[in-house]
Amino acid sequence: MYIVQIASECAPVIKAGGLGDVVYGLSRELENRGHCVELILPMYDCMRYDHIWGLHDAYRDLGVPWYGGEIKCDVFCGWVHGRLCFFIQPKSQDQFFNRGYVYGGEDDPMRFAFFSKAAMEFLLKSNKRPDIIHCHDWQTGLVPVMLYEMYQYYGMERQRVCYTIHNFRHQGICGNDILMATGLNRPEHYFHYDRLQDNFNPFALNLMKGGIVYSNYVNTVSPHHAWEARYTDVGYGLGHTLEIHQGKFGGILNGVDYNLWNPESDTYIPCQYDIGNLKNKAENKKALRERLLLQESDKPIIAYIGRLDDQKGVHLVHHAIYYALNRNAQFVLLGSATSADVNSRFWHEKHFLNNNPDVHIEIGFNEELAHLIYAGADMVVVPSNFEPCGLTQLISLKYGTVPIVRGVGGLLSTVFDRDHDQNHAPEKRNGYVFYQTDNHALESAMERAIGLYYEYPKEFEQLVQQGMEYDYSWKTAATQYLSIYEHVRFK
Ligand code: ADP
Repeated sequence: MYIVQIASECAPVIKAGGLGDVVYGLSRELENRGHCVELILPMYDCMRYDHIWGLHDAYRDLGVPWYGGEIKCDVFCGWVHGRLCFFIQPKSQDQFFNRGYVYGGEDDPMRFAFFSKAAMEFLLKSNKRPDIIHCHDWQTGLVPVMLYEMYQYYGMERQRVCYTIHNFRHQGICGNDILMATGLNRPEHYFHYDRLQDNFNPFALNLMKGGIVYSNYVNTVSPHHAWEARYTDVGYGLGHTLEIHQGKFGGILNGVDYNLWNPESDTYIPCQYDIGNLKNKAENKKALRERLLLQESDKPIIAYIGRLDDQKGVHLVHHAIYYALNRNAQFVLLGSATSADVNSRFWHEKHFLNNNPDVHIEIGFNEELAHLIYAGADMVVVPSNFEPCGLTQLISLKYGTVPIVRGVGGLLSTVFDRDHDQNHAPEKRNGYVFYQTDNHALESAMERAIGLYYEYPKEFEQLVQQGMEYDYSWKTAATQYLSIYEHVRFK
């Protein structure tokens, strides 16, 4: 099959979160199985250009219709660790992707509407006719809309779209001007409950809703989150739309790219290891302490790696630091905040704890350090308010780092409580789960984990090994995506 992924991120060249990992990992697995996969991405100025090989011109002066005129784009082509990627660079004063950030502009809906339009125009004019266009999150929600409403009449009548939602919280809420800019026009057509009209604000358009309505198949990134999105508030108002389209909606658990995330071959860590050689993991713990100037001791290291925002349960992350210190553990935090107040709160915490030899707070995004933390820590906390899939706990399991998670979304589908899980035999359990969002709930799970570490080290090691035995690679997920592609493709 010929598959084109259109996305706003692809690890490691441009990554703000799990979306980037999924786009890369899925593409790689599909290609390994003999399918032809290409990616279309914006050409951000802040990409890791050192991860792109052989960047060259693919299409000069691509005219993208925009507000009745056009914006010329150059399309570049290069390989990101073997994946063929096309990067779209608009030549306009808007500087859509030359701003030093991926997301965060007030005109984000317009930036990504432009990207979606340019991607479609590129496919059309370069005569690319994939069997499947796979797009992701609100940023590319307009792709299936434009395909169905416009591009099928220009010669793309056989293309089918699979749309993956990684996060329902951000939906791309915008106004009428998007319709005029992209040439969709006809506000009376799109401002309709059955199409793009936001379910709560009748004067706004919702790009994610457009993606759901117009795609041939829609999924979110774990089966449990698919249920939550329909029946609880984590669908952020799209529950009814999903209900209407339930026949083409499901959940597919993300995989982890074990080529990038594998303690046996990870080149970012000083000492590779596997399930039979956990002594080497201890070497990484030492290296982590040295790197972050933590004192050498027999204490466990508990880590948090992830964005610092409401979704991730920042109040619990904050509490976990102090609880760990109280319970004789060390704590390492690696995270970047999206909002100024959370950012300043954690900077404050960093200064406050600066001289404490048992804690390190690193604010920012650091892929290399993340690898060392996964390898060197003993436990990882993931106290999310909601979590569509969550990669942190999956990576942790692979690195023999015991996850302590809140039982929501993908966390519930992948971590099974050592003491209380009813559905898995004791030898299949792999971490700790708590359910409520208060401090006590988190404490009870951390307490059990730290207790096991100190009092029953053999059992703790056993739990580490049980986690490492799980296979959360892309194998299963890629098979599921392929059967969906097969189901929806034009025959
Ligand atoms: P989300 O997509 O909601 O941010 P996920 O758990 O699905 O969360 O994916 C997070 C991914 O991003 C993981 O690979 C994690 O290691 C990585 N990550 C998150 N924050 C950072 C950071 N500050 N530095 C390095 N890697 C990070």
